[in-house]
Amino acid sequence: MIELPDVERMIEAFAGYATGKTISAVLIDDPSVNVDVDMAREHIESHAIDTVERHGKNVVLRFRSGYSLVFEMGDEGRIYLESQTVPPADNSGVRLQFAAGRELRFDAPGSRETVHLLEGDDLSSLGGLESMGIDPLSDDLTVEKFVELAVGHPRSSLKGFLMNPAAIAGIGNEYADEICFQAGYRPDLRVGQMTPRQLERVHLYLRRVLRRATLHWQAAHADPGWLINHRAKGRPCPRCSTALTSIKLKGLRTYVCVRCQRAA
Ligand SMILES: [Zn+2]
Repeated sequence: MIELPDVERMIEAFAGYATGKTISAVLIDDPSVNVDVDMAREHIESHAIDTVERHGKNVVLRFRSGYSLVFEMGDEGRIYLESQTVPPADNSGVRLQFAAGRELRFDAPGSRETVHLLEGDDLSSLGGLESMGIDPLSDDLTVEKFVELAVGHPRSSLKGFLMNPAAIAGIGNEYADEICFQAGYRPDLRVGQMTPRQLERVHLYLRRVLRRATLHWQAAHADPGWLINHRAKGRPCPRCSTALTSIKLKGLRTYVCVRCQRAA
């Protein structure tokens, strides 16, 4: 399952190359992609990419034409640079070609609702877009805003709240567990049972965990103190060596240390 730090890594790998470059051709391989070919030709072809941004797990390419292309990564999407001589993958959705022989590829199973062409840069105009909550690494998710959002979801479990895309964009199963573990609270704790101080602590670790995972992915994914490196491997809690408990929360495999993570 793709998570926010993975999308950040994808962007890092091509943004330096693609920013400022002009698209020479737009190829839509998946006929079910919900983008009008003529519109794409008019507003994307022969126009340069102005900026490459991430919002939650969405990648946003803003063009100097004033139009934007939005790619939803979902659980299995991928966006990357490739040589035009390499045959596209079976699940190729869209390819944006550059004159120099490379192209930006977006692969995803069932791309139909996962690519959007919009005029301007207001993502909220895309009503059905997944992950329209606040990006957890943006300056907009202040501690006050986080507590305010949490107070609005009192019956949600802590993990369910962290993963609610209408509130916060792009936190998936493994990072939600990591944030709960690092903050020291059980993921099945009801948000309404938590004090503002406790919620502030969750906000602190949310930023710490995601920042570290995006800026120092390799180190984070080798850190013996991180739950992510112990889960699903039958290893005990990295802090206290108690056997990890595996529970199902919202149908998702969830790992907890009942000793290190408080239930209230
Ligand atoms: Zn423990």
